[in-house]
Amino acid sequence: MGTPPRTPPRVLTVAGSDSGGGAGIQADLKTMLALGTHGMSVLTAVTAQNSLGVQGVWELPADAVRAQFRAVVDDIGVAAVKTGMLASADLVETVAGLLAPLDVPVVVDPVGVSKHGDPLLAVDALDAVRGRLLPLATVATPNLAEVAQLTGVVVEGEDDLRRAADAVLGYGPRWALIKGGHLSGDATDLLTDGTVEHWLRAPRLDNRHTHGTGCTYASAIAARLAAGDPVPEAVAAAKEYVTGAIRAGFALGAGIGPVHHGH
Ligand code: PLP
Repeated sequence: MGTPPRTPPRVLTVAGSDSGGGAGIQADLKTMLALGTHGMSVLTAVTAQNSLGVQGVWELPADAVRAQFRAVVDDIGVAAVKTGMLASADLVETVAGLLAPLDVPVVVDPVGVSKHGDPLLAVDALDAVRGRLLPLATVATPNLAEVAQLTGVVVEGEDDLRRAADAVLGYGPRWALIKGGHLSGDATDLLTDGTVEHWLRAPRLDNRHTHGTGCTYASAIAARLAAGDPVPEAVAAAKEYVTGAIRAGFALGAGIGPVHHGH
């Protein structure tokens, strides 16, 4: 018989579905598996989506989000949570209300607009993200477009990353991870809690198949936090994972292909 298999760390993603399998819930679960954890999902929205963009979005009722969350947390339990696409102010408020009493690390990826420019969050939800969700975050992981949308800070070079982090920290997350991957040169991110700074650098990779990068990065952080890493170690491991996934990103359909988790 032998000893039964060990239960892996449990990680929950609260996010939208990408039918093309490259981003959203699908990227999250693949990342969580690749990092040796058990991934679970609370679905907030369904997208009809492929390599060319998002063709449709259907938000789930708040009751459905609440019921999924209770089902997971009340029986299985979670060691860390990641939030991604939350679609509307109503769902941001709902998810914030569910997370507030939970005493585990929360990674907030404040998803706003897809790479193709498709809106994944209603503009009238930004106040709820700033006022309700960011204060609950252990780590907030905005890209530069999301920094601009949330704080008004426009980052044009690495020198601006500190100012962006300060603006994000002003909304209450313990740590801000400002992802500078859309600047030219090295893909440089700044992780800071306002006291210490960690600069994470990776070489710019010549691969346009990067769909799902942000979801993968945030999920990898949550997986490492669930496994017990402190935040700086979790983010460093996640940066390494996402860099490998981008290097292995592959062509799919006629547009932008996904990052790859089997690397
Ligand atoms: N679709 C869903 C459901 C997402 O959550 C996200 C990003 O968070 C995207 C699409 C966009 O992915 P990308 O900007 O990497 O193309």
